[in-house]
Amino acid sequence: MVSIPHRKSIWVFHLNSGACNACDIEIIDAITPYHDVERLGVKLVGSPRHADAILLTGPITIEALPKVVRAILAVPEPKIVIAIGSCACGGGIWRDSYAVLGGVDRLYTYLREHGIEPPITIYIPGCPPKPEAIVYALAMVRGLVEQKQKKIEYIEKPSIEVVEYIEKLSKEAKKDLEKFFKGIEVR
Ligand code: SF4
Repeated sequence: MVSIPHRKSIWVFHLNSGACNACDIEIIDAITPYHDVERLGVKLVGSPRHADAILLTGPITIEALPKVVRAILAVPEPKIVIAIGSCACGGGIWRDSYAVLGGVDRLYTYLREHGIEPPITIYIPGCPPKPEAIVYALAMVRGLVEQKQKKIEYIEKPSIEVVEYIEKLSKEAKKDLEKFFKGIEVR
């Protein structure tokens, strides 16, 4: 089990990489007065540079990919990604859509291919997950509650590999992505 760097307070940056908006509404539910995660020291911030954790919703669309990578790299170490919803965890129903790379699993494969080690990630499956699950994940980062379930991987042959997927992109899109990865600072 990966140990989570516990914090006394957590500043979070909300990043929608292509969500349908329902997971985002549940985040709003978690941070507004009914569930009120501010009482746990959780504060929403406007820049990933100020954040300890990213609340990621949605599958990662090709359009959003460079912006998602840039936002993740901008968070200071030790950074945490909280993948909220089935789309962020594994691509959900959009997994093999032409406009979508997939969930964080494919994003992390892509990052590793470019020499970037993925951050510690907490997975909250559900479509969308309940705000209570989001509150629980944030309380886990605070060190207030224990992890409930161990990560279990069901390995089946993916219908399409990340490399294959990138190969299917248009020449222009591939050129753009390569240009982007050449320009970013790899830590
Ligand atoms: S997991 Fe469900 S609710 Fe969340 S972005 Fe995907 S489709 Fe929407």
